[in-house]
Amino acid sequence: MTPENHQPGLVVHTAGWPLDADTYGGSFLYHLDDNLVAVGFVVGLGYTNPYLSPYEEFQRYKTHPAIRGFFAGGKRIAYGARAIAAGGIQSLPKLVFPGGALIGDDAGFLNASRIKGSHCAIKSGMLAAEAAFPALQAGRAGDELSAYPEAFERSWLFDELYRARNFKPWMSKGLYTGALMVGIDQIVFGGKAPWTLHHDHADHQTLKKKGEAQPIAYPKPDGVLTFDRLTSVSFSNTNHGEDQPIHLTLKDAAVPVSVNLELYDAPEQRYCPAGVEIVRRRRDGANPRLQINAQNCVHCKTCDIKDPTQNIHWVTPEGGGGPNYPGM
Ligand SMILES: Cc1cc2nc3c(=O)[nH]c(=O)nc-3n(C[C@H](O)[C@H](O)[C@H](O)COP(=O)(O)OP(=O)(O)OC[C@H]3O[C@@H](n4cnc5c(N)ncnc54)[C@H](O)[C@@H]3O)c2cc1C
Ligand code: SF4
Repeated sequence: MTPENHQPGLVVHTAGWPLDADTYGGSFLYHLDDNLVAVGFVVGLGYTNPYLSPYEEFQRYKTHPAIRGFFAGGKRIAYGARAIAAGGIQSLPKLVFPGGALIGDDAGFLNASRIKGSHCAIKSGMLAAEAAFPALQAGRAGDELSAYPEAFERSWLFDELYRARNFKPWMSKGLYTGALMVGIDQIVFGGKAPWTLHHDHADHQTLKKKGEAQPIAYPKPDGVLTFDRLTSVSFSNTNHGEDQPIHLTLKDAAVPVSVNLELYDAPEQRYCPAGVEIVRRRRDGANPRLQINAQNCVHCKTCDIKDPTQNIHWVTPEGGGGPNYPGM
């Protein structure tokens, strides 16, 4: 960004707009060193409108009068996207398996109420390492490291996540109800309210059918402040070796048309932040089919989470393929 728009250390968080009050989300905007700014928009994947595009909501966010000025004269230099595992302590899976352990965001240790997970990742890694060390000294291998989840339950990390446990379930009930109830939960009860809310659905179960939802007309990108997805992907520095196994496949090749397109107007065309999934047709509009441009995938894992039929199978690609953020 231009030096006159840059305020090193400035942190701006927003909630809501341009999302409606029933859709969880908001933005972050961090002024870094060297006239750099990191900006992003979070959309809760429990959203209901199949016409919603998280990427386009991000573009709209940048046009807000309080935000757009920051970018005047600036230049886009990097792009990426990822899913944030924000379910909290109620969503933690079993942390150990024979010969291995889940730590950090892999398990879902992020504290969504603070939008922070680095300290949780570090602490869970320490707890796992402290459990692994005596096991290795004893020559144990291939069994379950039960000392790690036990130590977690005695740690400050458990206490912190326990206090934050109702944040996401409350916020899933809409911005206003969520803000009120999180306030009561956190300020009145200090995170020790006599209730624990649970997640009563998975994110892939929340979409309305296309006939029940309002299409959203997103403005065309201007190429200055707002951009199309594919040019943004070119700034993600993502690449897949031509000979690596395909990391994005369909369980049933017929389902994207017979179910996703028919019932939901193919929401994968909109929730994918890289435009990987596109419905192609013949010139006369007939014969729709889903084309997957897996080379463009920025590994956010949204399709694996949000696909209403859970038909898209995403596996970890080869490491090092990006996104890679220069200068971070
Ligand atoms: C937009 C955003 C803003 C955030 N802001 C904050 C904040 O202000 N403060 C805070 O504390 N937390 C913040 N968080 C959360 C924080 O970033 C995470 O909780 C934390 O980084 C998790 O650490 P981790 O080591 O578990 O996983 P990660 O940091 O995700 O590390 C996983 C690493 O594995 C690599 N990898 C993936 N696949 C492979 C493979 N196949 N082979 C080899 N390597 C691979 C990845 O490239 C990555 O480097 C934010 C998260 C996001 C998305
Ligand atoms: S294909 Fe899936 S994982 Fe890849 S960018 Fe699109 S939504 Fe994300």
